[in-house]
Amino acid sequence: METMVIPGMSNIPEVKIAVLGGSTTIGANFPRAYEGVEVIEDNMVFETPFGPTAPFTHAKVDGKEFLYVDFHGINRQIRNTEPDSSGERVFYVLWKAGVKKIIGTALCGSSNRLLDPADAVIPDDFVDFTTKRPQMLMVSLQDKGEDVPRYSYRLHQPTCPTLSDSLVEACEEAGFPRVFKRGIVGVAEGPRLESPAEIKLRYQNLGIDIVTMNFVPEVFFAREIGACYAAIELVSNYGEGLIDPRWEGNTAFRDFQKRWSRPTAEAILHALKAMNPDDDSCGCSTYRWESILL
Ligand SMILES: [Zn+2]
Repeated sequence: METMVIPGMSNIPEVKIAVLGGSTTIGANFPRAYEGVEVIEDNMVFETPFGPTAPFTHAKVDGKEFLYVDFHGINRQIRNTEPDSSGERVFYVLWKAGVKKIIGTALCGSSNRLLDPADAVIPDDFVDFTTKRPQMLMVSLQDKGEDVPRYSYRLHQPTCPTLSDSLVEACEEAGFPRVFKRGIVGVAEGPRLESPAEIKLRYQNLGIDIVTMNFVPEVFFAREIGACYAAIELVSNYGEGLIDPRWEGNTAFRDFQKRWSRPTAEAILHALKAMNPDDDSCGCSTYRWESILL
């Protein structure tokens, strides 16, 4: 498939690593503000069959090139829901770039009473409660008239164990007080937050540890394009009704972001430095195959 180059739009570079920023890295000026990072090109907007993307940064640390996009590729013009969602746009770019390793990050609420704000969780499984998100990138592309293969895949190991181990070490090194190497994420559609009964019935009673609005479709789009995926989920607040019913709202949230965005960015950079983008011994890329559906 030929990618059309449109004036004002960047060509998609060949890059093996991608970082999808979230509310955790907003305000951290990632990756520009960090020592050892060389920005190759900034503010790159790519044309996709779903429309233009949010601006990407192409950068390099320790000889490793990566693509970075802020806030999951969502902005005022680009929603995270179908049609033409940020996930479809971002993952089209990652697929075309040949990305093999993806690090995601997001803030989350707790639904496990053992968790506290500033705990970092590296999830190993998820339950998708979203209702308006795309489910298969290739189906979305076929709906746009693109001639693309269709893949089936397993999700018995949804996140990459190698990348997850490296994120655990990186978070410890970056100074997070507690780092959990497993956890189940419940993904809510949002953008509203949950009620106490929803936290109890939909998440806590089911054994779900944290609640976020991201992670989907990243976790299965990564599998679909044959890439490894792992994420840092940073607990910013208790789920409603779980521990403390007092909620200080936006100020507390902003203060929290201010305190923890830099350590999150540093953890991501630690993980990038430790990464071997050609190592596929984790097996993630073998869990998909071309579908028999024509
Ligand atoms: Zn992997």
